[in-house]
Formats: sequence, C-alpha cells, structure tokens
Amino acid sequence: MDLPPAIETHGLSKRYKSAHALRGLDLRVPAGSIYGLVGRNGAGKTTTIKILMGLVHPTSGEGRVVGYRIDDVADGRRIRRGTAYVGEDRAMWPDMTVSEVLAVSRPFFPRWRTDLEREYLEAFEIPQQKRIGRFSKGARSAFAMVLALARGADLLLLDEPTEGLDPILVERVLQALVRAVADNPVLTVFFSSHRLFEVERIADRVGILHDGRLLFDDSLDELKTAYKRVVATFDDAPPDALRTLAGVLHARAEGRMISLLASRHVDDIVAESRARGARQVDAFPVSLNDIFLDAVGDRVD
Ligand code: ATP
Repeated sequence: MDLPPAIETHGLSKRYKSAHALRGLDLRVPAGSIYGLVGRNGAGKTTTIKILMGLVHPTSGEGRVVGYRIDDVADGRRIRRGTAYVGEDRAMWPDMTVSEVLAVSRPFFPRWRTDLEREYLEAFEIPQQKRIGRFSKGARSAFAMVLALARGADLLLLDEPTEGLDPILVERVLQALVRAVADNPVLTVFFSSHRLFEVERIADRVGILHDGRLLFDDSLDELKTAYKRVVATFDDAPPDALRTLAGVLHARAEGRMISLLASRHVDDIVAESRARGARQVDAFPVSLNDIFLDAVGDRVD
C-alpha cells in the first residue's frame, strides 16, 4: 500500500511581530511512521505543530496534513477531525472529572476505543475521582494521552507529550505510541520533545529544528548506520582541508586532533585523513545527542 505522506510542507514560514518562528520549513512525514521533532526552547516546534493543526496560519508556504490543505478553512476542519492533538494547554475542563470528560468526548468520535480508554486510564495511573483542575502536571499529560490514543485518529500531533511525566509513565506512554502505530498501519505520530533519548527510542525519523530551520532530517536507521564521527590525530595542527571533504557535516578541531561528523563517504574521509599525515584515525558510531550537539550546540544565532 503506497500511502501519500501524512504531513508535507513546503517553505513554511511564520513571522510574529517580535519573532521569526519558522523560516522555510520543508517537512515530509511518511504515513505509518513516528516522527520526532527536537530543538531548543524557542526553536519553533510548537509553532510547527499549531500550523499543522490549523490553529496558527503560516505567513508563507504551504502544506498538507493527511491529504488536506492547511491553508483551506474546510480542509482545516477535516484535519482537526481526523487528528488527535495534544497541545501545550492541558488544563482542559478543570471542573470536570475524568468520567465526565470521557462521556462528553466519546460521542464525537465514531472510532473511539473504549478498550484502550480503560487500559490506558489504568496504565497511566489517572486519578479518576479528582477534578482535572486538581491534577498534577504529569497527570494532565497522561490523561491527554489517554484521550489521544482512544480517539481512533489517523494522526497524532503531540507537543511534548511526556512533559511532566515520571520515568515509569514516560516509558508506558512511549510503549503505547509504538503499539498504536504497530496496530494501525496508517497511523502516524508526529511529536516534539526535549528528551533526545525518547525520540531515539521510538522515532523512525527525526528532525532537528533550530531557529525556525530544519538542520537535520533523516531516519534513525540511517543515523545509526551511515553517520559516523571520524577522529583523527596529527603531529601538528590538523589540515583545514578535511573540513570540506564530501560527507563532512561538521568539524571541530582541538589542538592536534580533529573530530569530523560525517553522513557519508566515511571510508574516503578516513583514507584522506591518513593521506594527509594523521597518526591515528578512528570512526565511531554516533547518537542523536552527538548529532544534536553538533547541529545546534555551538550556534549562537
Ligand atoms: P519550547 O521548546 O520552549 O516550547 P518551541 O520550539 O516550541 O519552544 P515556539 O513556541 O514555536 O518554540 O516559538 C518559536 C518562536 O516564536 C519563539 O521565539 C517564541 O517566542 C515565538 N512565538 C511563539 N508564539 C508566539 C506568539 N503568539 N507571539 C509572538 N511570538 C511567538
């Protein structure tokens, strides 16, 4: 089955009066995948998710979500109907109890899964007697995830879904997301996170957003197999020419050593380092954390 991408954007930009939140975002998220969007505070993650959900209008650019145009009012309604959204504000219905919220929510969604609702209320340890307004931050996130998972949506748009959760509940929520995608081949999960480990754990594809631009967008399989850190030590200062070899994404020299983050041509980079007099050259696997620090760590823009 060849499905159209769940999310596709071209040149998406958003300028607020005081900030340029997005600067030409091109996204392509395959249907049936889990996509993790990471970035520092203010990188533009929430703006991206709100634009995809049709809650914020882009200044320029275009996009489609589950096949519908984000700049069309009627399509926007269709996007919101088929998408479960967990946004920043989780204080929804502060005066209602869990069962009251569920009773109101179920009739709206014909594909509502009462089995999942029951299962996740228990697994996420939702306090069922309290009013939502009295929930802890973590309980609000967890309950928002119950609602999102039980809806029977084809797309989950989640803005920091594990915010405030303790490590046990983080794990249960991540497992629930993986299972949801495994159980429904057309379900796509697009989520933002500050926790690189959770993106690395469940995402098929990851995007690193920085200052409104996507600095990295690749599959985690590719990251694990193709990306390497090449560390070369010389007798003197490392030659600058290594920085511009094909495949080198980022270079950092310290004393007689140079560290090159490479996405391809690793063997050539190793050979070239040797040819230019390196005493020792090693190629190491990289983690998402390495990529993140290299991509945004020393940028001050
Ligand atoms: P965080 O990780 O802190 O939640 P983020 O990556 O989600 O950050 P956004 O909330 O999308 O980032 O913000 C991107 C930029 O746009 C920031 O500079 C922010 O201050 C600005 N911004 C966001 N919303 C508005 C708004 N409604 N009005 C003005 N500026 C805004």
